[in-house]
Amino acid sequence: MRRRFKGDPKWIIVRYPAKCGKSGCEVPITAGERAFYYPEDRSLYGARCGHGEEASRDFAAHRIDEDGY
Ligand SMILES: [Zn+2]
Repeated sequence: MRRRFKGDPKWIIVRYPAKCGKSGCEVPITAGERAFYYPEDRSLYGARCGHGEEASRDFAAHRIDEDGY
């Protein structure tokens, strides 16, 4: 059974300095920078290191499966 997500992950502009949430990745995300945000576990994935793009692609791939595209 698939867990029901609280909210879809999305690109946001971060308001405070953070770090990429990808394990092993310590690339900082500075305020005003774009990051891919998962509200479910409140994790951020940086755009600078490419993990944000990776996460958004993964999410889009799931979406596409569900839509039967
Ligand atoms: Zn990263």
